[in-house]
Amino acid sequence: MKPQPFLGTVPSFREAYPEVKTLRLEGEQRGELARESQSAVNYTESDLPQIIPCANPRCQQGGYDLFTSLSTVTQNRGTSYERELFCNGHEGSPQGRRRGDPCCNALKFSLALTYNENSGA
Ligand SMILES: [Zn+2]
Repeated sequence: MKPQPFLGTVPSFREAYPEVKTLRLEGEQRGELARESQSAVNYTESDLPQIIPCANPRCQQGGYDLFTSLSTVTQNRGTSYERELFCNGHEGSPQGRRRGDPCCNALKFSLALTYNENSGA
């Protein structure tokens, strides 16, 4: 089974932020979780997705959009950043006939970044 690539229009983290040398994201998700072990969220520059998936098993169209935060922090060459994001999904019916209650999950995370010294030179 091959991993599915992202849609063609979505750049990878590396393509979107070539000036970033290393990145470490550590976070904790709270709310409805399929398993307790899913509360811990860890990514590096090599596997960071644009949208961190929501762990609420009933959540539809949810997730945490990180690239907005990343744009803010990388523009200022920030090396650390903390934020809490809320899922914007909803607990709709599986048939998708109606929009359900909003998903109340949240992700609190911290970022540690380093940059390529001579980027843009
Ligand atoms: Zn959600």
